[in-house]
Amino acid sequence: MLKIVKVKFSDYYESVKCYIDLPGVCPHCGTLISPQIMFGSPFSTGYFKTDSANSRVVIIYRCTNDKCLKFFVIEYKFRKITHLEGYNQVRTFDYLDCEPIKYSYKIPFQIDVPKNIKDIFPEFFNIYSQAQQAEKDNLDKIYGMAYRKALEFLVKGYAIRRNPNDVSKINAKPLGNVIAQDFGDLPRIQALAKASNWIATDATHYEQRFDNADTEAMKMFIESAMTFISADLTADEASKFIEENDPKK
Ligand SMILES: [Zn+2]
Repeated sequence: MLKIVKVKFSDYYESVKCYIDLPGVCPHCGTLISPQIMFGSPFSTGYFKTDSANSRVVIIYRCTNDKCLKFFVIEYKFRKITHLEGYNQVRTFDYLDCEPIKYSYKIPFQIDVPKNIKDIFPEFFNIYSQAQQAEKDNLDKIYGMAYRKALEFLVKGYAIRRNPNDVSKINAKPLGNVIAQDFGDLPRIQALAKASNWIATDATHYEQRFDNADTEAMKMFIESAMTFISADLTADEASKFIEENDPKK
C-alpha cells in the first residue's frame, strides 16, 4: 500500500513527503499487516544535497498483530522528484520516491580458502561457503551433508582437472571410487579425502552416527585436502615455469 510519510531535514524548514510502499508482512511474526508508522527520519548530507549516494530515509514501524507488536526498521534510498502543481503550474513541489534496501541480518564471515582453489573450483567454493553458513546458523541436521557435497565437488573437480578427457567417467563414479582410483599417485590427498568421505557419508545417513568430534575432524580433513591440492596446483605452475624458462633448452 502506497503511503505518504513526512520527514524533516535539518537544513529545510518544510516537511518533505516520502512516497513509501508500506511493508505488508511483519518480519518477526510473518503476519499480513498494515504497520503502524512510529517515526521517519532522513539521514543525508541535507535536503539540498539529496542527490548524494547517501540519501536515505529510515522508518521505524510497529507490527499491528497484538500477539507480536514488535518494532522493525526499514531503510530506503530515495530519488527527489520535482513536479509542477496548481492551475497555472507555477509552484514546484518536491517529493521523495523511496525504494527499500534489503537487510539480511547476517554477520559476514571470512571463509578461508586458498585463492587458486577459489578461482579454479568456484562451484566447490560456493557449496563450501554455504556449508559454513549452515553450520554458523546451527542447521545441524544438514550442514554435514553440505560439507559432503563440497568435498565431492573438490575431489571430482580436481580429478577432472588432472584427467580432462575423463569428465563423464569421473562424474558418473561414486566419490569413494574416484578417491580410490584417481589419486593413487597422491596418497596424502587420497588419505585426507578418504577419511573425510567416511565421516561425511555417515552424516547423510538416516541414522546419524556422527557427533561433534567427527564434524571437527571432517572439516579439518577437508581443509587439509584443500591445502594439499592448492600446493599441488602451485607446484604444477612452478614446473611449467621451469620448463618455459629453462636456459639449457
Ligand atoms: Zn509481528
